[in-house]
Amino acid sequence: MTKLQSGIEIPENSDFTLENLPFGVAEVIPGKFAAVTRIGNQVIDLEILEKLGIFSDSAFDFNSVFNKQVLNDFINLGKQAHKVVRKRLQEIFARDAQVDKKLFAAIHSAAIKPFTEVRMVMPVHVTDYTDFYSSIEHATNVGMMFRDPKNAILPNWRHLPVGYHGRASSIVVSGTNIHRPLGQTLPAGAEIPVFGPSKMLDFELEMAFVVGKSTGLGDRVKAENAEDYIFGFLLFNDLSARDIQSWEYVPLGPFLSKNFGSVVSPWIVTLEALEPFRTEGPVQDPEVLPYLKTEGKRNFDINLEVAIKTSNNDENVVCRSNFRHMYWNICQQLAHHTINGCNINTGDLYASGTISGPDPGSYGSMLELTWRGTKPITLKDGTERKFINDLDTLSMRGFSEKDGIRVGFGECITQILPAKP
Ligand code: MN
Repeated sequence: MTKLQSGIEIPENSDFTLENLPFGVAEVIPGKFAAVTRIGNQVIDLEILEKLGIFSDSAFDFNSVFNKQVLNDFINLGKQAHKVVRKRLQEIFARDAQVDKKLFAAIHSAAIKPFTEVRMVMPVHVTDYTDFYSSIEHATNVGMMFRDPKNAILPNWRHLPVGYHGRASSIVVSGTNIHRPLGQTLPAGAEIPVFGPSKMLDFELEMAFVVGKSTGLGDRVKAENAEDYIFGFLLFNDLSARDIQSWEYVPLGPFLSKNFGSVVSPWIVTLEALEPFRTEGPVQDPEVLPYLKTEGKRNFDINLEVAIKTSNNDENVVCRSNFRHMYWNICQQLAHHTINGCNINTGDLYASGTISGPDPGSYGSMLELTWRGTKPITLKDGTERKFINDLDTLSMRGFSEKDGIRVGFGECITQILPAKP
């Protein structure tokens, strides 16, 4: 694959190349929202491009989809429409673009703005949210700590992608700060719970995919063509209160320990953009049931990291992982989710579960990194962390790179504020 040359300056190591072209929504001027993409440090207003006639010779009507506060209507136009937009953007922003001079001037004066001059907002109305538990390293680590080191992986785990239905209302965009939750916890050795702010607030490093095509009740998505139903990916920080979780989760799973705020990156990177970074997943043993079988490369090589920024602005990278470690791939997740006839909708979000790798530096949560607080991490400012302190800022980043081509997600950040009084 030859690297595309952009007419817009792209700084070295930028996630936002001409191969990427992620979709998001920005407040482009106060009170005015538009669908946007990004090249280098410039944000490109798709509504203005549409008005300039950039997409007019396609079979799709983009007139009423780029001026919304969310991308759902655009996503709902389908994969062919997304590909048309991607291809046109790669044509008109190429270094040697064959664009009429007047049009070129209009695009550059009206449709392009520095990233720092806009405010990114939640890119999608999340219709439903499911969280999987698809990293075998994470499931093993949690099983060892919460249950039985000898039987860390439960008997069902290698036969189906375990998941739970989460809550959509509290999924927010990067830059939204989250208050420490209050709740019930059971102190060590106690028989009755106490109430107060969580003392074990944690992040979970995850990726999430956005569904781009709905199904009817009773329909099943086949694993082999599940990707037809997937629009793209986001970074996903599934904030978790471990002390609340360990008391409440029996027998129905996580509840208030997980739904007080989850944070997504503002950019949705499409499956098309991630195409060059496909990779094999781990070998699945035992063999899975026929409805879960997939062929070919269904995992993606995406480097992931998490940093804790302290109030003096020191940045401490505490975890480096990779999305390719996932035991269950996205096709298997969607096939399993619909095997009973559960319908899915454009705008649904499916998170991977914490993405831990095999070595301790790649664990995707503080729970695992500090082994439930028994091995605290020392930060640059000399302070220790077992979990996340008030006023810590969490930053997640992710990018793929191959043959000099880079496609990334930018940053997913949130600051943890003290519990609301
Ligand atoms: Mn999670």
